[in-house]
Amino acid sequence: MTSDLVLTGISKQFAGHRAVDNLDLTVPAGTFFALLGPSGCGKTTTLRMIAGLEEPTAGSIRLGDDEISGLRPYKRPVNTVFQNYALFPHLDIFENVAFGLKRRKIKDFKPKVEEMLDLVELNDYGKRRPGQLSGGQQQRVALARALINRPQVLLLDEPLGALDLKLRRQMQLELKRIQTEVGITFVHVTHDQEEAMTMADTIAVMNAGRIEQLGSPAELYDLPATTFVANFLGQSNLIRGAIIGHADQNLIVEVQGRKVVVPTARCRVTEGEVWLGIRPEKVFLAAAGSEEGDGVNQLRGAVVTDVSYVGVSTQYLAKLPWGQELTVFEQNTGAREAFVAGDPVDLHWRPAHSFLLDAAQDAL
Ligand code: ATP
Repeated sequence: MTSDLVLTGISKQFAGHRAVDNLDLTVPAGTFFALLGPSGCGKTTTLRMIAGLEEPTAGSIRLGDDEISGLRPYKRPVNTVFQNYALFPHLDIFENVAFGLKRRKIKDFKPKVEEMLDLVELNDYGKRRPGQLSGGQQQRVALARALINRPQVLLLDEPLGALDLKLRRQMQLELKRIQTEVGITFVHVTHDQEEAMTMADTIAVMNAGRIEQLGSPAELYDLPATTFVANFLGQSNLIRGAIIGHADQNLIVEVQGRKVVVPTARCRVTEGEVWLGIRPEKVFLAAAGSEEGDGVNQLRGAVVTDVSYVGVSTQYLAKLPWGQELTVFEQNTGAREAFVAGDPVDLHWRPAHSFLLDAAQDAL
């Protein structure tokens, strides 16, 4: 049985520094949840409070109806996988995985260990020592060892941080498969947005001890709530403007003397100064004066200032008449000649592909 993990008003104050600031968070039972944010934003401290390795200064941590924040770490139905594996070097892999069951004096542990080794696809490695395995294999052993006691929640603290990029990508998919198979709640800490997006059902983006936004990867990417999220998850072009009216289901925004529209449903603000946000792959370049696009959301008079070929796509920088540079990603479909630096271009995008943030609340 698994229950929701609920953090209410959780804070952690270290001498003179508030690492976690009044956090409210519900992790639905059986989901893959990622805590994502830059270094020092309080992710690990939050995880350590759930594990019982750090005492909260204030707040409560519940699993279903049970308050667990007063319990010692080993009394919590929670286990942790760390980046450095923490395997026992003198024990073979089978014994490493069996350790938790043996300590609890569980008799018929052999089939359970075999099941776990099977889960992490290491059945043939039981007799080896950790030192005889690759980093990725050691991480799988650590995972099997943490899962064998069937915790309600598995905490993962940058578990893939020590692996090279290719192995990391492979392990991300593997972790997701394992989570789906065992159905245990996973709370995964990472500063890698791509990693969080690949694996998690829900992501909480943290900044300075608080949660900036919580949602599915697609929700966060499609409609970020703040400039921090807009820039931390992928890239965004953010253009300063002001709301000057509304028409039908749209807000009308003035940007440097030009009018553009944004659907109301994609606006986090109803009046005043705004950031108009457009993802680089949602902006299109057209030869100057070519009348491509629907003519609604269009910025004319730009110049290509930089072109980088990156295989599947080309990345452009285009300078607008007021000096701001926008980033544009264009798929290399071969449909037309690439632009070169110095080409005059117009930029256009579909209103439903932009979003509006409150510039008064958000200094960028
Ligand atoms: P990283 O990705 O670098 O691990 P993080 O988001 O996990 O960062 P935390 O390790 O939770 O961040 O740290 C949050 C803040 O709390 C940091 O400013 C850190 O210096 C501070 N901090 C963490 N542990 C302690 C401690 N034991 N004593 C004092 N300050 C601490």
